[in-house]
Amino acid sequence: MKKISFIVVLLFLTFSFVNAKPKTIYIQPLGDVKQEYLDYIKTSVKKFYGYDCVIKSKLNLITDVLAGSGTRYEAGKILKKYNSKENVLLITEKDITHRKSNDIPEWGVFGLGFRPGKTCVISTFRLKKNVSKAKFLERLNKVALHEIGHNLGLDHCTNDKECMMTSASGTIKQVDREKIWFCSKCWNQIR
Ligand SMILES: [Zn+2]
Ligand SMILES: [Zn+2]
Repeated sequence: MKKISFIVVLLFLTFSFVNAKPKTIYIQPLGDVKQEYLDYIKTSVKKFYGYDCVIKSKLNLITDVLAGSGTRYEAGKILKKYNSKENVLLITEKDITHRKSNDIPEWGVFGLGFRPGKTCVISTFRLKKNVSKAKFLERLNKVALHEIGHNLGLDHCTNDKECMMTSASGTIKQVDREKIWFCSKCWNQIR
C-alpha cells in the first residue's frame, strides 16, 4: 500500500512540473511608465494568455544596468539584475539595447526575455515614433506577448510571418506585419 502512494505522489509531482505555467504575471515598471500603458498590458495579457496580472509599484532604474555608452540601458543586465522566481514582465520607457556583435555592442531592441524563464523586459522607446496612440499600444501589446512567449519556452517562429513569435530583429515593420496571434505550431508547444 505504501508503495502505491509513493508512485501516486511521484506522478503528481511530475505532472505539476510539466504544467508549471504562470498563474500570475507581475508587471514591474522600471522608472516612470504611464499608468495607461501598464493597465493596457495587464488587460491584454489576461485576454491572450488568461494569466492574471498584478501591477507593482515602480522601481528606479539604476546605473548598474546602463550600457557601455552610459546613455542607454542594457536589456541583458536588466534581466540579470531583476531575475525573479515569480513571473515578471519588466517595462521601461527608456531605450534598451542588446549586444549584436563586437561591432554593434548596443543594438536597440523592443524587448528581451529568458527562454525559458520567468523574467522579460520590454521598452516603449522604439515603438512610439511617428505613430498614433492606438498603433503604439498594439505594438506594445505584441512585444509583451512575444517576450512572455520566450519565457514560456518558445523560440523564434519561422512558420508564419504573421505569428507574433517571428523575430523582429529590431525592425518595427515586422511587428506591424504580425497579428495578435500565434500560429498553431507555437500554440501547440505551450498548451
Ligand atoms: Zn524574440
Ligand atoms: Zn509561430
